[in-house]
Amino acid sequence: QAKDDGKGVARRFDPARFAEAEQRRNDEDDLRTALAEKQFEVFYQPIVDLDGEHTVGVEALVRWRHPSRGLLPPAAFLDLAEEIGLMPELGIWVLEQACEQAVGWQRDNPSFELNVNLSASQLGSPHLADDIQTVLEQTGIPPYLLVLELTESVALTDLAESARVLGSLKTLGVRIALDDFGTGFSSLSHLGALPVDVVKIDRSFVQAMPDSATGASVAEAVLQIARTFGLAPVAEGVEDADTAARLRELECAQAQGYHFAKPMPAAELSDLLAAQVALERR
Ligand code: C2E
Ligand code: MG
Ligand code: MG
Ligand code: MG
Repeated sequence: QAKDDGKGVARRFDPARFAEAEQRRNDEDDLRTALAEKQFEVFYQPIVDLDGEHTVGVEALVRWRHPSRGLLPPAAFLDLAEEIGLMPELGIWVLEQACEQAVGWQRDNPSFELNVNLSASQLGSPHLADDIQTVLEQTGIPPYLLVLELTESVALTDLAESARVLGSLKTLGVRIALDDFGTGFSSLSHLGALPVDVVKIDRSFVQAMPDSATGASVAEAVLQIARTFGLAPVAEGVEDADTAARLRELECAQAQGYHFAKPMPAAELSDLLAAQVALERR
C-alpha cells in the first residue's frame, strides 16, 4: 500500500523489504520459542596445561539444536539474542547447566576449572551478581573454580562501569578473564584499572605465529603485555603441534584449540576425562 512519508513523496510497497521484515520477525519468534523450550545445548572445549597437555578445565560454549536447521553455532543467533534482550536469560541458563556439569567433573579432579562467557547486556544487567550468586549456591560449585569471560572490546567500552561490575563479581570469589585479548589495543593502557585475573590471547595472534617472524613477535609481545599486568595468559585457537611447542617455549602455561580438542557435548567430555584418569593411574 502506497503511503505518504511526510516529504510529499508516496513510498511504494517494497516486497523485498517486506519479506526481510517478516523473516526477521520469524527469527525473533523462533529464538523466543527456543529459549522457552530450552532448545539450547552447552558444548565444552578443553583448556590444557601446555606442559603435560592435561585438561585443566573447559570453556562452556552454547549451541542451538534448531528443530529444522540442525545444530547452530553461536554466530548464527547470539547477536539477535543480544539485540532482542534474551541474552541475560540465556546466559544464566548456560551458566547453570555448565556449573551442574562441572561439579560432577570436579569430583574426580578437585581443581577442575569452568569458564563461562558473559555478554555485553549481561554486564549491564542490575541483578547479574545476584543471579550468579544464586547459581553458585544452587549448584555448589566453588566460586574460585569459576572463570567468567568477558571480551576485551566490551570490557573497555565503559571502563569505569566495567570496573564497578567486575568488582562486584569478584566479591563473589569468582575469577575474571578478558576474552579476545589484544584485539582492543587502543585502550590497553587502561587495563590495570580492571580487576582481571586471566587473559585469553586472541586466536588471530596465535594463528599468525607460524606464518612469519612478525607474527611470532606479535604473539610474544601480547604475552609480554599480559605479564606486565600480572595476568595469566591462555592461548586460544591452537591448531597445530608447532604452535603449541612455540607457546610452551614462550612460557604460556595454558592453551585451547582444535589441536587439543574441539568443543563437544558433556557426555563426550566425561569420556575424555575418564580416559585421562585411567591413563594417569597406569
Ligand atoms: P570465544 O569465547 O572466543 O570462544 C572460542 C571460539 O573459538 C569457539 O567458537 C571455539 O569453538 C572456537 N575455537 C576454539 N579452538 C579453535 C581453533 O583451534 N580454531 C578455530 N578456528 N576456532 C577455535 P564458538 O563456540 O563458535 O563460539 C564463538 C563465540 O561465541 C565465543 O567466542 C563467544 O564469544 C560466543 N559465545 C559462545 N557461547 C557463549 C555463551 O554461552 N555466552 C556468551 N555471552 N557468548 C558465547
Ligand atoms: Mg570465551
Ligand atoms: Mg575467546
Ligand atoms: Mg574469540
